[in-house]
Amino acid sequence: MKVHAAPWVLPILAPPLRDGAVALDEHGVVVEVGPLRSLARLGPVREHAGVLLPGLVNAHAHVELSHLNERVPGGDGLVPWIRTLLATRDAAADPAAARRAAIYLASRGTVAIADVTNAGLVAGALREAGLEVLILDERVAVRGELAPSRDGAVAVPHSTYTCGASTLRALAARSGGCVRSIHVEEDPAEATWLLEARGPFAELFAERGVIPDAPPPGLRPIAWLDALGVLGPGSLLVHLTVADNASLALAAQRGATAVLCPRSNRHITGRLPPWDRIRAAGLRVALGSDSLASSPTLDVLGDVAELARAGADPAWLLEAATHGGARALALPHLGALAAGLRPRLIELGDAARGLSDPLAWVAHEGADAPARRLA
Ligand SMILES: [Zn+2]
Repeated sequence: MKVHAAPWVLPILAPPLRDGAVALDEHGVVVEVGPLRSLARLGPVREHAGVLLPGLVNAHAHVELSHLNERVPGGDGLVPWIRTLLATRDAAADPAAARRAAIYLASRGTVAIADVTNAGLVAGALREAGLEVLILDERVAVRGELAPSRDGAVAVPHSTYTCGASTLRALAARSGGCVRSIHVEEDPAEATWLLEARGPFAELFAERGVIPDAPPPGLRPIAWLDALGVLGPGSLLVHLTVADNASLALAAQRGATAVLCPRSNRHITGRLPPWDRIRAAGLRVALGSDSLASSPTLDVLGDVAELARAGADPAWLLEAATHGGARALALPHLGALAAGLRPRLIELGDAARGLSDPLAWVAHEGADAPARRLA
């Protein structure tokens, strides 16, 4: 048994504790969380100077694209960004960049990740760095028979504009009836295509000689997924940047999780996800970094800071970056400091003594503070 003590402890599902402590057994399982004065009896005390919290969960990344760091300019919307990505992505694939990214994630207190793969290259690097992983084997523009899922991975559709009804249904059937993860409502071009069969995606398909296997459904993306019966409590709806209120309400009703990637959205489309409407709709929320092709780092605390600057509540954001992500990845032992969980305790910063609002400090400045994994 080890007792970790600090000026501030953030249990996440309970209010911050000043002069708090977390008692962990030899497996890193939380035995008790509370004031240091009542936990000191449990074992040797290790004093820390920072803020203690559960390890972070990144619920959407593409570590495989790490070699594209700063090589895919944005700001003109999703379709122009996709054009540049397609022209750049295979140019210099670099497994070493992915390994560096995995080590970086671990060094920033990220303990679990939902990582999208197209080439199956990086799961090993992530595990070696000590992360728990949900590998999402992404399918784009499937033609003919659906190939088997990669070992240990969940096959998922890329989006509603690159996967038709039969692919969406078949992939959902492989993951318990609902699509496990999908990019959706990232840019207005998606709904323009699905509703009216025109716009930037129609132009992109014509350019690339893509012939959709069926006419678009005449529904917005979330309504279409629901009409196909593939939307459910396990579904991670990545982005939702331009989702309308009816779509958000439907997603909430189905128990799906919104995975927000605000820095990526700002880079590609110049807007932030509607976090206030998403919160008001009662949606479950997690945070993701997306890839280095659209975000400056893979540290979800950067995304927390982005939304905190926009006015989102620090406690809500930190819950999304920990407990929300753990629930999204179906890793219920992570995400909170509470008895019986194994949350991979981390420390942020080294001078928490003078803080009056540790939640606001972590939300606004945590991304720039030193991070350390303690268990
Ligand atoms: Zn993505």
